[in-house]
Amino acid sequence: MTQAAPATVKGRSCGTCTLCCKVLKIPETDSGKGEWCRHCVTGKGCSIYDERPQRCRDFLCGYLIWDAVPDHWHPAKSRIVVVSELGFRINFTVDPGAPGRWREVPWYNEIKALAVLGFQENRQVLVTVGNKVTALLPDREVELGVVGDNEVIVTGRRPDGTWGAAKVHKDDPRMADGGTMVPLG
Ligand code: SF4
Ligand code: SF4
Repeated sequence: MTQAAPATVKGRSCGTCTLCCKVLKIPETDSGKGEWCRHCVTGKGCSIYDERPQRCRDFLCGYLIWDAVPDHWHPAKSRIVVVSELGFRINFTVDPGAPGRWREVPWYNEIKALAVLGFQENRQVLVTVGNKVTALLPDREVELGVVGDNEVIVTGRRPDGTWGAAKVHKDDPRMADGGTMVPLG
């Protein structure tokens, strides 16, 4: 999704990167997470640029808009697109062509550090590879697998004080606060 926007960090641009056209779900083009959008021409960009969906026009990955994100997070290099979701979640969406990249240094150490910081700020930190999701907790990882369209991810502390993450139905009463840090049974 090659685009320019006034909110981007000075000196940063998409360049030849098109990774968000692969790792994100784009309903308007019937492409799922981890599948190249049928309109993406590798190395060139969007073949329907002037008519691309509004979702594509609006999208800016974390590398472009957060100056705290170091240069080695450029998605063309890291193979990871950092995405802000729902106002309380940071999702590291990994190229399925390099599924283990997020476990490599320096990215892994920085994701783990963010998991600790994120929970202090009531933020979820997830890693998505294809359509499979892992929740990063301050003390461990929880593999959640495929999250259905009628499911949401909740994270929080259990009554015994341990951290937890789970998939629940979207109508679960624990979703009353919007699905961020909630008590887990
Ligand atoms: S992942 Fe980021 S840098 Fe790459 S094309 Fe998308 S918005 Fe641009
Ligand atoms: S329509 Fe264009 S910008 Fe949007 S995902 Fe497809 S190739 Fe990327």
